[in-house]
Amino acid sequence: MTTSTNDKDALRDLLDNNKRWAAETEAREPGFFSRLLKQQTPQYLWIGCADSRVPANELVDLLPGELFVHRNVANVVVHSDLNALSVMQFAVDHLKVRHIIVVGHSNCGGVRAALYDQRVGLVENWIRHVQDVRRMHQDWLDTVAEPRRVDALCELNVLEQARNACHTTVVQDAWEREQEVVVHGWVYGLHNGLLEDLSITVGCPADVEPAYRRALANVKARYATAG
Ligand SMILES: [Zn+2]
Repeated sequence: MTTSTNDKDALRDLLDNNKRWAAETEAREPGFFSRLLKQQTPQYLWIGCADSRVPANELVDLLPGELFVHRNVANVVVHSDLNALSVMQFAVDHLKVRHIIVVGHSNCGGVRAALYDQRVGLVENWIRHVQDVRRMHQDWLDTVAEPRRVDALCELNVLEQARNACHTTVVQDAWEREQEVVVHGWVYGLHNGLLEDLSITVGCPADVEPAYRRALANVKARYATAG
């Protein structure tokens, strides 16, 4: 495989952008990087989709050092995924983040592929987890008007993955030792740039199922009334 001159120029642009960004950041806030060198103290762990249109820090206007981030296709939290679990464990046990936010987004390609059984190669194996969500809610999804079904499944997926996050040993152990960790579920609108809280907000084991059921009822009510 050869690399064209254009490819090299494109990457040079990125490096030039980086130099400019670093200089501007340091000029705006002298000592910014030397302070970050010593420690990071993020309050939030963001678990989001890998989609390039959903850049975590930019959406919530947070600087480097303020948001710990894990992203994968369709923001899935799987109990056997050592990558996600390691991120969660480090964030909760060592960085002491106070909030874990599972963030889905409208018109998610991974969710769409799961909904319509699209053939997309290796990643199909990953989005089987989203198909599990689809199967759990298939009867209700069938009642949602076709154009809105993808977004409905995006939101259901957030609720299920947030519930999965609550059930991880990482979060369960933190709650058991009375460490304050709250799990949230949000959805981002690609069409308007806005984040919406799906109100699955859980800070202790007893709240998991009631919060899940309330949030699920809210999602269903919204899609039922808006047609
Ligand atoms: Zn996505």
